Amino acid sequence: VKPVLKLHNTLGRKIQEFKPLKKNSVSLYTCGPTVYNYAHIGNLRTYIFEDILERVLMRNGYRVDRVMNITDVGHLTGDTDAGEDKVEKEARSENRSVKEITEFYTEKFLEDLRELNVKIPRSLPKATSFIEEQIELVEELMKKGYAYETAEAVYFDVKKFKSYGKLSGQKLEEKTVAARAEVVADKEKRSPADFALWFKTVGRFKDHIQRWPSPWGEGFPGWHLECSAIARALLGQPLDIHTGGVDHIGTHHENEIAQSEAAYKLPLANYWLHGEFLLIDAAKMAKSEKNFITLADLKARGYAPLSFRYLVLNSHYRSKLNFSWEALSAAEHGLYKIEEAYFALGRGPIKLKGPLSRGAEIEEIAFTKAINEDLNTPKALAVLHKVLRAPKIPAMEKRALIEKMNQILQIIGDEPPGPSSIPRRVQELAAQRLRLRNNKQFKQADVLRDEIDGLGYTIIDEEGGYRLVPKRK
Ligand code: AMP
Ligand code: ZN
Repeated sequence: VKPVLKLHNTLGRKIQEFKPLKKNSVSLYTCGPTVYNYAHIGNLRTYIFEDILERVLMRNGYRVDRVMNITDVGHLTGDTDAGEDKVEKEARSENRSVKEITEFYTEKFLEDLRELNVKIPRSLPKATSFIEEQIELVEELMKKGYAYETAEAVYFDVKKFKSYGKLSGQKLEEKTVAARAEVVADKEKRSPADFALWFKTVGRFKDHIQRWPSPWGEGFPGWHLECSAIARALLGQPLDIHTGGVDHIGTHHENEIAQSEAAYKLPLANYWLHGEFLLIDAAKMAKSEKNFITLADLKARGYAPLSFRYLVLNSHYRSKLNFSWEALSAAEHGLYKIEEAYFALGRGPIKLKGPLSRGAEIEEIAFTKAINEDLNTPKALAVLHKVLRAPKIPAMEKRALIEKMNQILQIIGDEPPGPSSIPRRVQELAAQRLRLRNNKQFKQADVLRDEIDGLGYTIIDEEGGYRLVPKRK
């Protein structure tokens, strides 16, 4: 019998058995990054959650047709209709072209994914490559009376869409009040909760660089439009699963639903999954808050990217996760112990002579059950730990089990980690370096840092001391 996969659906807020539209394949739309800056580790947490989702779907025997859009136009600094285009603002401040900015940060984004063992979606459509489809969608909404034009833009009339708010559960009146508090530029907007489908390159957008002709004059699409248009074009409507971070529930996804469902009278997606926030000092990590940390920051401090992946998987994706350097250090150490124990079981090809022993089979079932229980990675990791310690499971079976678990978890690298105890020579150099630093002989201290680096360790200065971390490939 096929194991049952259960997922939490934000639409309806309950755990449901997953039933795809087609028997053997799943269509998955994951909202992608706005490529105007480096991804922060909060964003990366969401992409790790989506990676686990994809791998779990595959483990359940489905082919996964996944699309992740790349937002290279239309996302304003306020998630609603206020502010400037993030990409163009960055291009101005870095004195580079819009294309240079979006290409550069798209590449950086993909590098981050690779380092975190996140499968790169085969389809990564740019918003600017689907302008025609977006215009068609607006035309459809105009034709059906869900949209109206002003001198500045074309808006979606939320009052006309009766089920507006069904994803978040927020009442339209509350949303209207909240939106009224923001700076609303366009006096002709019928309701503050209406959102832009198309911005005309007039007024505050007079100098907007990226622009296309449309039935409403030159302009550019609003941020929400691309996902509705791209999802339909590449995956069809309805699709099986749509995902993002929880901050998308109230506005972005609500608006996507309104656009797609009003235009085509079909649900946009059957299942909506959302990853919870990564916090720092109990506040949401956000680019706008300047409290963000990137993967490059972690690496500069000597941490391996997969230590972050392991940290993330230790929490369920629907729980908030508070990031701290201490927690990351603990995760790095924990992962180190796992790898040490795993590689101590043996190297070389994994070959089983017969079927798994009863004890191993029980753990394999427990693992499948954990991941199929709404992607319960903390539980799955507990099974992995149990297997490593189990006295009765033969080593080769342990290796086979863990290798299979790791196809989903993706935390164990191909090589064993470096030596667990820091060599004497490295310790001596580090102590000597601290003395030099205390004497303000920074140049000489840096020479020793390089020497330590050459021996495979990164030295991290901490208040009153330092920490040595083995470097990993
Ligand atoms: P953005 O590039 O701003 O569109 O965000 C990319 C993805 O990261 C979206 O799915 C967001 O919901 C998600 N996200 C943003 N901030 C956080 C955070 N602090 N923790 C987890 N996910 C986040
Ligand atoms: Zn989206």
